[in-house]
Amino acid sequence: MKGEIAVILFLTLTVFGRQIPSVVDQDAADTEECANREIIKAPDEVDDPVVIDGDILVSKEQAAIYYESGWDGLVNSEAWNTNLYKWNKRIPYQISKEIKDPSDSKMRSMHLNIRSSLQEITQRTCLSFEPAGCIDFTYLYFAKGDECYTYLGAPVFGARTVYLGYSCGGGSSRARTPAHEAMHTMGRYHEQTRPDRDTYVTINANSCDDQMKKNNKADTLNIGYDYSSVMHYSRWQCSLSRPDKPSMTYKKWTGNADYVGQRQVLSAKDVEHIKVYYCPSMMMRLVGGRDNSEGRLEVNNEEVWGTVCSHGFDTNDANVVCKYLGRPGVEEVYSAAHIQNIQSAQDSPIWMSDLECTGQEDNPFTCSQKVMKHHTNCDHNQDVAIRCSKAARLIGGNDNSGRLEVYYNG
Ligand SMILES: [Zn+2]
Repeated sequence: MKGEIAVILFLTLTVFGRQIPSVVDQDAADTEECANREIIKAPDEVDDPVVIDGDILVSKEQAAIYYESGWDGLVNSEAWNTNLYKWNKRIPYQISKEIKDPSDSKMRSMHLNIRSSLQEITQRTCLSFEPAGCIDFTYLYFAKGDECYTYLGAPVFGARTVYLGYSCGGGSSRARTPAHEAMHTMGRYHEQTRPDRDTYVTINANSCDDQMKKNNKADTLNIGYDYSSVMHYSRWQCSLSRPDKPSMTYKKWTGNADYVGQRQVLSAKDVEHIKVYYCPSMMMRLVGGRDNSEGRLEVNNEEVWGTVCSHGFDTNDANVVCKYLGRPGVEEVYSAAHIQNIQSAQDSPIWMSDLECTGQEDNPFTCSQKVMKHHTNCDHNQDVAIRCSKAARLIGGNDNSGRLEVYYNG
């Protein structure tokens, strides 16, 4: 009987020329348990919110503080602190019935973008988005809207709503708009509003000031400016004289200007922002190399940096590590003892040994490994160092197309 149903379903889908990916079906099944529950909005989701920074909703009270004292005033205010909350590592989510309507092709596209956005964050960080169960009283809720916007921070209680409109949240070129909005609820601001943005962008006179305001207190977490971020606006966002003059120009970007503002894939730094804030124990870095694609491999555990012992470390392991660091793959594995002038790791713990990756993993922390501490039959002369190949990136193009540029040896 099940087989017959599957065949009929297959024929039905094939006849109408539709391919509904299994992730969507799975999602529908996963949330069925609570599909009919009443959505209780988080207490700060007031009926008459004010939009700041283009797509962030705040209460009138918060907006008044923002307009009078800027971002500094808002993040230090009681109105802010009362409502701001950090998600736990497991983030339950629910998708509205409207978006899950399989007969509506636009909604199906948005639904896929939600699923792929949440999957990418789940695969690349320690956060885990899971369909909400009936016992989850705090969750992310995706609802159909005219445009794309959400509230800042996670809710203290109830549903934190992300509104998605088809024009901004549907189609493959907008595949990471749900991730963009989810990241606002995770506390992330727009890249072009960072305190150091004047070094990287010029905001032109024809832009709307309220969307391009510099946030002097936006915490950069010591992560560099990122034109590739899904949190960066495009130069046409908020241009009052579109299409004649962009609202901003880029001072240091050498790629296609229309790539900035992409919504197709999280950048390495987008992932780093999440990890520094939510998953410090899943951080890796390269130290002391000639550039940032090379160096002694270090692992952060409980907010302390340590090294990796070379016992059993091979190119499969290094490939997974390099990809995790946003590089295409590994070029060379060697001993950190060969790096000139590197500061000694003598007082650091040796956190990891006998790493055994197959080479197919997305995340080295999912590979088999022996976690060590200060003990050991390994010493710092055996610390692993690697050289990863330089990043490749898609330059320009629309939707899924673009010229692939590979940087090699310089
Ligand atoms: Zn935004």
